[in-house]
Amino acid sequence: EYREIANPTHTREILARHGFTFKKSLGQNFLTEPNILRKIVQTAEIDEQVNVIEVGPGIGALTEYLARQAKQVLAFEIDDRLIPVLADTLQSYPNVTIKHQDVLQADLLKVTSETFKETLPIKVVANLPYYITTPIMMHFLESDLVVDEMVVMMQKEVADRISAKPGTKAYGSLSIAVQYYMEASLAFIVPKTVFVPQPNVDSAILKLTRRQKPAVEVIDEKAFFKLTKAAFQLRRKTLWNNLVNNYGKDEKTKQWLSQALAVTGIDPKRRGETLSLQEFADLSNQLVKTLH
Ligand code: SAM
Repeated sequence: EYREIANPTHTREILARHGFTFKKSLGQNFLTEPNILRKIVQTAEIDEQVNVIEVGPGIGALTEYLARQAKQVLAFEIDDRLIPVLADTLQSYPNVTIKHQDVLQADLLKVTSETFKETLPIKVVANLPYYITTPIMMHFLESDLVVDEMVVMMQKEVADRISAKPGTKAYGSLSIAVQYYMEASLAFIVPKTVFVPQPNVDSAILKLTRRQKPAVEVIDEKAFFKLTKAAFQLRRKTLWNNLVNNYGKDEKTKQWLSQALAVTGIDPKRRGETLSLQEFADLSNQLVKTLH
């Protein structure tokens, strides 16, 4: 009788058989609750017409669920000790490819085109290593690879920041960087108790769906992201203070900034967190058009 990997007893057996010990520094908190895995796969709506990328398969708990539904699964795992474990636990899933690599170093477009035999929609589904949640999200968003959907587990606090709306405390440059490309919604909360070892923080599943086109029209994306980062640099400072701190305090720069603010009707005394994506886009476009 077959027993799935994500079952507390079976997980313990696998770990013992391979003499595996957790590395906190690699964010290793493994899922052992089948119900959560089922919910993740349901949220991601995976079928034979989808290729999946997973980050950090661990011993393969989630990978197994993905492999049963998807056409192919490509999983990046950095820990060399897990490579033989995965070869063992996932041996009956020929549609899984394990890539022994730091995902942040991976050329995603290249690896996926080498791995996936068919051109199908690509979804990223993962229980992320929390110490690099934001770099991983940005690595996917900034790569040339078109990801249609991401269903990713992360610390709840980061999920809140990514999905935050303007005017809220959690809203910041990360919210904007993600929401520019993707529609973000919090799918469900995951209790600490379903992991071994248990993490210190609460977790959440975030669902991100790629927009047909970016949320706002910007002339120069680099300039837009530079502006949004600058606006939130010191959260208690006004937009004006953050802008002159980042772009320069000389008269010419100040005039350039204040004119752009006037033209777009944005009060320099406002705080960055009150500006909508559209206002940031308007301001960025005006600054680019009048580059001094
Ligand atoms: N997917 C498994 C599960 O849900 O049980 C394990 C998830 S665990 C939170 C994160 C995994 O990411 C670990 O297996 C860890 O070794 C791996 N990892 C950490 N840093 C990584 C990196 N830079 N690139 C690829 N994998 C990484």
